[in-house]
Amino acid sequence: MDVEQFRKAGYAAIDRICDYFYSLEKLPVVSKVEPGYLKGLIPAQAPEEGEDFSKVQDDYEKLILPGLTRWQHPSFFAYFPTGCTFEGILADLYSSSVANPGFNWSASPACTELEVITMDWAAKLLGLSPEFYNSSEVGGGVVQTSASDSVLVAVVAARSRYLTAHPETKIEDLVIYSTTQTHSLAKKAAVVLGLGIRSIAVKTEEKFSLRGGELRAALEEDTKLGKKPFIMIATVGSTSSGAVDNIGELGEVLKEHPDVWYHIDAAWAGVALACPEYRESLYLPEINEYATSFCTNFHKWGLVNFDFSAMWVRDRKLLTAALDVTPLYLRTKQGDEGTAIDYRNWHLGLGRKFRSLKLWFVLRSYGVSGFQNHIRKGIEMNNLFVNLLSESKTLELVTEPSLALTVFRVVPPSAEKYTLEEINGLNSQFFKTMSVRDDIMITQTNLNGVICIRFAVGSARTEEVHIRQGYGVIEREGAATVDTWLR
Ligand code: PLP
Repeated sequence: MDVEQFRKAGYAAIDRICDYFYSLEKLPVVSKVEPGYLKGLIPAQAPEEGEDFSKVQDDYEKLILPGLTRWQHPSFFAYFPTGCTFEGILADLYSSSVANPGFNWSASPACTELEVITMDWAAKLLGLSPEFYNSSEVGGGVVQTSASDSVLVAVVAARSRYLTAHPETKIEDLVIYSTTQTHSLAKKAAVVLGLGIRSIAVKTEEKFSLRGGELRAALEEDTKLGKKPFIMIATVGSTSSGAVDNIGELGEVLKEHPDVWYHIDAAWAGVALACPEYRESLYLPEINEYATSFCTNFHKWGLVNFDFSAMWVRDRKLLTAALDVTPLYLRTKQGDEGTAIDYRNWHLGLGRKFRSLKLWFVLRSYGVSGFQNHIRKGIEMNNLFVNLLSESKTLELVTEPSLALTVFRVVPPSAEKYTLEEINGLNSQFFKTMSVRDDIMITQTNLNGVICIRFAVGSARTEEVHIRQGYGVIEREGAATVDTWLR
């Protein structure tokens, strides 16, 4: 394809993408295809001769679009939302057009410098302490691919710090601390790095939040056994229920264990810190006081297209001490002189995408107030769902709603007559029924043995009408499932 062919195909692509967005609401949320559907439709090898690109674009529409789950659909209430703005799409296009792997400052100065500046914009947007700003030249912010990568980076840096302070430590004694509600990223990090992990149990009556006393007891128990806890991964806004660990109490306990790195995973809820009214309940002052590192995904609820996980550390040297590997071919004048950040030393790989462009486009276009409005709208939509649910005889909250997430379950009349297993069975049946539908998508979870359903709001396109429709479907299917189950 030459430049003029690209111009033509590019205009056509934008037209097709616009048409897709116009038709989105009429399309099913959930794809109807079966596993292996593409096998019979796409040849097993690449074509011998190049094909006309318009044919490729036709096939994208014909073969690929039907096999996509529509995360941008206003009735997508599964998992957590994923950001998708036109500003983000355009930034990805620009970034792709310059294909800069920006690992060193000199590999592309603009990639590094825009990341340095926009990560400070983001830190200020969320109210993080200036200690985390890049401009502090001590702490700093870096864009990672995912919250899982952010945790991997934190664990690698925490391990390095611990082993430097205690070189006699046996690797098999090191333990990652998490809770039973921590996202699977903690277990994944343990598997990848071959480390031990402890998941501290959290109580239903504490709304699935880890308290200081439980952390202290676990630390005492493990220390007596010769184990070496070296990182605590706390959560602000858990995946299952939006639970928030008691960041202040945990921070106070960890003060007595200064070798333990304190990472806070706020992958989903962290962007709500942009709204001052949620800062106290999400423990912003305590995050600022105690966290060694903090992560939130702008690519979830934060309007930036995947991938964009924002990670901040209080001391950038803890990352570079663990991750700086510099053969001669990577050495540069600026790196040697320390006059610029080489972001390759702040993440796991070498090459990295020019992702800061997405945040820059989004924040300039929405402004702080537009960003806050988006978060507030998600919470308002969720409150509407909760209000509707409070009238229901079939649905009940399992725990308090958190920001834009509601966790509920289906209950039969005189629920006290049934065992937990029986009601869990009813909810599994309900979820199966809901999973057959293609006009709405929700997910299920298990909270300390209770099977329940998650309803997560936050797509930029979800309006009141979609919440009412979604609620109506859930309520009707819930009542029908109860009827069948009682027979
Ligand atoms: N942490 C929390 C609290 C999450 O809810 C999720 C995903 O939903 C993750 C981490 C994983 O995020 P990522 O896919 O960016 O690794």
